Amino acid sequence: MPLGDGRLSHDLDPSDRSPQDACGVFGVWVPPSEASRAEVSKLTYYGLYALQHRGQESAGIAVSDGSRIVVFKDMGLVAQVFDESVLNTLRGHLAVGHCRYSTTGSPTWENAQPTFRSTDAGGLALTHNGNLINTPELAARLDPGVLTATSDTEVLAALLATHGGGPMEAAREILPATRGAYSLVFMDEGTLYAARDPEGIRPLVLGSFEDVGWVVASETAALDIVGARFVREIEPGELIAIDADGVRSERFAEPRPKGCLFEYVYLARPDTTIAGRSVQATRVEVGRRLAREHPVEADLVIPTPESGTPAAIGYAEASGIPYGQGLVKNSYVGRTFIQPSQTIRQLGIRLKLNPLREAIEGRRLIVVDDSIVRGNTQRAIVRMLRDAGAAEVHVRISSPPVKWPCFYGIDFATRAELIAGNLSVEEIRDSLGADSLGYISLDELIAASQIPKDRLCRACFDGVYPIPVDEDSRGKHLLEPSTT
Ligand code: SF4
Repeated sequence: MPLGDGRLSHDLDPSDRSPQDACGVFGVWVPPSEASRAEVSKLTYYGLYALQHRGQESAGIAVSDGSRIVVFKDMGLVAQVFDESVLNTLRGHLAVGHCRYSTTGSPTWENAQPTFRSTDAGGLALTHNGNLINTPELAARLDPGVLTATSDTEVLAALLATHGGGPMEAAREILPATRGAYSLVFMDEGTLYAARDPEGIRPLVLGSFEDVGWVVASETAALDIVGARFVREIEPGELIAIDADGVRSERFAEPRPKGCLFEYVYLARPDTTIAGRSVQATRVEVGRRLAREHPVEADLVIPTPESGTPAAIGYAEASGIPYGQGLVKNSYVGRTFIQPSQTIRQLGIRLKLNPLREAIEGRRLIVVDDSIVRGNTQRAIVRMLRDAGAAEVHVRISSPPVKWPCFYGIDFATRAELIAGNLSVEEIRDSLGADSLGYISLDELIAASQIPKDRLCRACFDGVYPIPVDEDSRGKHLLEPSTT
């Protein structure tokens, strides 16, 4: 049975999937007590719930009571994988959790995380957000037959577990040789660990419960939701260990910060803060700048719900054109388990979006969205608005054209499938059937992020990859036997 996509603000058209994130990671350590033992898995559940947008294929939690690690994971959304009775069996005072979208390795149970490995001293449970780019080179260090799954995370877990020293010692040695994007949260029976690649491509933050407990999470929103206070970001190239002695930190590599620019455009929750600035504030500012770069006379600014909402608010504010709703989204369609018949499929995007005729009829509209992948979604929206009587439809996009694939943990379409990889802006406008089309420029997007250009990865927009990627290290199925 196919699982619902669970994605309420994207994937309006299943044939035009939005970029898929590589995962959410979460970890918690609290002092052992009877009360804490019952709470930790529930805190992890709610942390993962807050990070569900980062991966919807599988979910899992590993918990330890100080002497034994228990792992529960399965395919599906966090709320589908866990219920009260399962969580009640996961008792301990430290835990790690994961929600996955696959980038290396198929979406199978074996590849779901946490990845567990036995070690000489006990066990190791590892969670990973990002994508490694030297997986074959790392896998070659392992004895044949060691791998039981086909993900890059499995390779890393096997290297850490077979090292022979403790997790800290193993990480000190293995991580400097690991290339690509990795925000890691892992544990043995008594200690929670976290590490971030030297480029810091994916986010990772540290929070605390009044200094008597600690949380590590992909985004600050997950700290808020479990009632933890934001302490700081885990630094690029930093490795930390957390136990009864508090937080111990060390560097395993010099930092070379290249945070993912796409986190601001699309990936992170709007209520998350990156580098001290709320993602919502950045997205509204992008909208303001978009209005100044691509002005047009119109009667109403509408978002593609909900992905275009913050930028549409900013566009309306800077242009002085009223903001309003023109499309109503059925928020629950994304969770359907029913495969539509061919007749229903032809309704396409109408299953999820419905135009508000009275707002649209006779009006000149500006429709704001966050990105264009293949263009099918925007083409259907333009047609729907015209059918509903719009006098003009102007499309504005709050990211530059996405022309290049991502090798650091975001699954875009291939370059051949990316409409901007093949067509000029004018050709895309024509293909969408819009009266005009404007993308924010890369410089304006970077300015809105308030992060210096040389501290950002923007490879999907400009093709400049901060960590070079060998041809033989590309591809989701590189550890799987060829079927051709
Ligand atoms: S290529 Fe794009 S999506 Fe991937 S890390 Fe860089 S900015 Fe982010």
